[in-house]
Amino acid sequence: MSDEITIESNLRLVEDRIKAACERAGRNPSGVTLVAVSKTKPFSDVLEARKAGAKEFGENYVQEMMDKIEEAENVPDMALVRWHMIGHLQKNKVKYLIGHTALIHSVDSLSLAEQIEKEAAKKDVVMRVLLEVNVAEEESKWGFDTVSVKEAAEKILDFPHVKVLGLMTSAPYTEDPETNRQFFRELNALAHELYDDKLIANQDPDFKLPVLSMGMTGDFEVAVEEGATMVRVGTAIFGNRSYRK
Ligand SMILES: *Cc1c(COP(=O)(O)O)cnc(C)c1O
Repeated sequence: MSDEITIESNLRLVEDRIKAACERAGRNPSGVTLVAVSKTKPFSDVLEARKAGAKEFGENYVQEMMDKIEEAENVPDMALVRWHMIGHLQKNKVKYLIGHTALIHSVDSLSLAEQIEKEAAKKDVVMRVLLEVNVAEEESKWGFDTVSVKEAAEKILDFPHVKVLGLMTSAPYTEDPETNRQFFRELNALAHELYDDKLIANQDPDFKLPVLSMGMTGDFEVAVEEGATMVRVGTAIFGNRSYRK
C-alpha cells in the first residue's frame, strides 16, 4: 500500500465525501450520480478513472469530447461509459453530439433547444437535456433566469425530440461553499415546481427525476446536502487543469 495521490485515490475520496454529505442530509448515496469532469485532461486520465470505477464523464468542448469518444471506441473498458456535455454549446456544433452524449446539461436558450430538436429529429432520436439556470444572476454566466426557464420549458414540451429531465446550475466561484447553499436550495425548489407543473419529464429509464445537476469541486458537498442528484467534479479527481481552453 502506498499513500500516493492518484486518480483512483482521489475518486475514492470524492465518493466518501458524497456519502458523508448524504448521511448528514438523510439521503441515499445511490441518488447521487458523480460526473467526472475530464475537460483539458488526456484520454489516459479518463481511462484511469474508468478503471477506478467512474462511468460518467463530463466535457465542456465538443471537439475534445468527440476526440475522446473516438479514442474510447476501441477500448473494451470504456464500453459502458456515458458522456455528458456540460459546457456552453454553440448551435453549429449540436449536430456532432446527437447520438453520442447521454445528457446535455447546458441548454441555455430556446434557440439552442430548437437546434437540438432539429438535429435529433434528423437522426430520429430523443435527446435528453437539462436547462441551465443562472440562479445567482452572474453577468458572466450563461443560463436562463428563474422566470424565463419556465417559459422555455413550456415551449420545449412541444418538441418531440427533446426531453427536459431537470435543471443545472454553476454556482459562483467561492472560497466558502456555504455561500452557495442558497442557490442550490433555490434550484431544487425551482426544479420541483417545474416537475409538479409537468414541465419536466415524469419518467426516464436511466435517470431519477427531476435531475438536479449542481455542485463542483469547491461546493459539491453543500450541493448534495441541498438535493443534488448529479455533481460535476473535475479538479478533485483529476487535479488542477494546467490550461483553460
Ligand atoms: C469545469 C467544470 C466543472 C468542474 O469544475 P471543478 O471545479 O474542476 O470540479 C463542472 N461544471 C462545469 C460546467 C464546468 O465547466
